Amino acid sequence: MTEEMTDQETLEFRAQVQQLLNILANSLYTEREIFMRELISNASDALHRVQFEMLTNREVLDPDAELAIRVAFDAEARTLTIADTGIGMTREELIENLGTIAHSGAMAFLQGLEQGQRPDDMIGQFGVGFYSVFMVAEQVTVTSRSYRPAASAWHWTSRGDSRFTLSPAAQETRGTVVEIQLKEDAVEFASAWRLKQVIKKHSDYVSFPIYMEDEVVNQQVALWRQQPQMVEEQEYQDFYRQLTLDLQTPLLHIHLVADAPVNVRSILYVPRQLERGPLRLRTDVGLRLYSRKVLIQDYNTDLLPEYLRFVEGVVDSEDLPLNISRETVQSSAVMRQLQKALTGRLLKALREMAEERPDDYSIFWSEFGPFIKQGVATNPLDQGDLLPLLRFHSSRSDGELISLADYVARMGEDQGAIYYILGDDRAAVSHSPHLDVFKAHGLEVLYLLDPLDGFVMQSLREYEDKPFQNVDDPDLDLPALEKEDAEAEAAGESVSQVEFDQLAARFERVLGEQVTEVKPSKVLTDSPCRLVSPAGGPERDLRRVRRLLGQEVDTPPKLLEINRRHPLIQNLARLVVNRPDDAVIDAAMEQLWENLLLLEGLHPNPAQMVPRIQVLLAAATERIGDNDD
Ligand code: ADP
Ligand code: MG
Repeated sequence: MTEEMTDQETLEFRAQVQQLLNILANSLYTEREIFMRELISNASDALHRVQFEMLTNREVLDPDAELAIRVAFDAEARTLTIADTGIGMTREELIENLGTIAHSGAMAFLQGLEQGQRPDDMIGQFGVGFYSVFMVAEQVTVTSRSYRPAASAWHWTSRGDSRFTLSPAAQETRGTVVEIQLKEDAVEFASAWRLKQVIKKHSDYVSFPIYMEDEVVNQQVALWRQQPQMVEEQEYQDFYRQLTLDLQTPLLHIHLVADAPVNVRSILYVPRQLERGPLRLRTDVGLRLYSRKVLIQDYNTDLLPEYLRFVEGVVDSEDLPLNISRETVQSSAVMRQLQKALTGRLLKALREMAEERPDDYSIFWSEFGPFIKQGVATNPLDQGDLLPLLRFHSSRSDGELISLADYVARMGEDQGAIYYILGDDRAAVSHSPHLDVFKAHGLEVLYLLDPLDGFVMQSLREYEDKPFQNVDDPDLDLPALEKEDAEAEAAGESVSQVEFDQLAARFERVLGEQVTEVKPSKVLTDSPCRLVSPAGGPERDLRRVRRLLGQEVDTPPKLLEINRRHPLIQNLARLVVNRPDDAVIDAAMEQLWENLLLLEGLHPNPAQMVPRIQVLLAAATERIGDNDD
């Protein structure tokens, strides 16, 4: 290459780049070999992009050049060169791409530093892009010529300090050459075995040949295009690591190879964790989409329904037209077929995991359960596949999570519905008056403790022909209820009809518009009263969700059911008849009402109850004093 010193121009890096370079150039990292991965990945990106340009019929310089990467070294001179026939860069692109921070990993790296992370711990976890070359380089010269026929070639040179220099170059061919003058302590990278080792480890599946001394050193055959039975478990793990930079083993991988109804070669992974530490910022979601090994899109979000956006992987289909533009990918009919095939296969694999590997499945559920719930609520067509994946606490599960199938298997023969209760936590729900009758009859009730469960129940009608029923339903359909009720009536002491009518009238007066009706309860045993939603309606399941979202909602009027056999109710009834002017009556009724709101997780402001509770306490202590006289 001939330097034309006349046109040389020196520019400053952006401040952030200078900061990053400072850190990379002046410290010693054990993982610095990753600079090779970063440079090869840039070369591979550049090759994919020029391939795409050629397919979309644009005029390209050197259309017949082999799409390849070449690695060369000279141990004596301590130089290392990585060249590609990719898309290349114009002068402006060199300034823009290598002078400012383009890479999201580099941004995350700097943020991590600000949060006090050690650079050594972070280097291996994610790339810092092109700049990582300065971990090993004294000086780097990038010579590039863009694919655009009219563009000319340029040198970009830097020693990793605050400046870089640009000058015209004489390169005739398309692509980029990165020439590294290695630091003295990085001479190991001017050796064939070391380079091969690093390429094998980090870049084996790069889908263009990587040549070294005229030998191809990467496996290259896309893993997803191989037959699943030929692929070793370890290869799936390695590919996952290369794809995601996640060091944890994924919870699940599937390898889908099919030709009908749609041609598809795909490997999908379910990660172990949604967030992989503060550094692995997962800003881009989606699958890598290839058509006949040509990368069409880095992050495609139309291949899976939105609720499966935590899935990582690659999809390759020969049925996608090659000249498809990134914009029209979305609307193609092939995409819909692909989505159907991928979704079906993935959900099947999740069901299998739930059955065969319950420990892994519980990790999955705690990380990704909310996504599955979103799926149930938003994708009615997938419901059949998703319901077996749901997990709940219940009144009989002892803190364990159960499936709907577990619930149904334990149902009594005369039990007609799957009962559920909505609430904020297990303790609150287990004390709910709604559960009286269920406990008494040994009936299991699902505890729906996640605000999202309200959404789920909105769209769920039944499971295996059993309808879902909220325990606050006014017409609970309970087995053997009638008989028990009659027996209890005969046996226990109860408020008479006359007393009850007076009591109910007083409740209605005190509570005003908050209640629609006051009725004797058929289901309560241990609790004095409960709130029932008049005429059911799915609206109520959504209330908690709205409250959580900060959309303040008034509590709608409720039906109040009263337990005529409860001592507190009997006392109140007597007071209403004998001492109707006693101030304790109204206070007690209001407090009973608010206790119920509290238990339902519907109380707007619990602290507000304190003055009234003090009035009640004063009355109680005073009466105890009276009795002593
Ligand atoms: P990233 O690859 O994540 O974008 P990098 O720091 O690795 O970030 O690279 C920055 C940019 O420099 C790339 O986006 C690309 O535009 C450009 N670039 C780097 N290497 C090459 C190359 N070999 N050929 C063409 N462009 C390149
Ligand atoms: Mg890169």
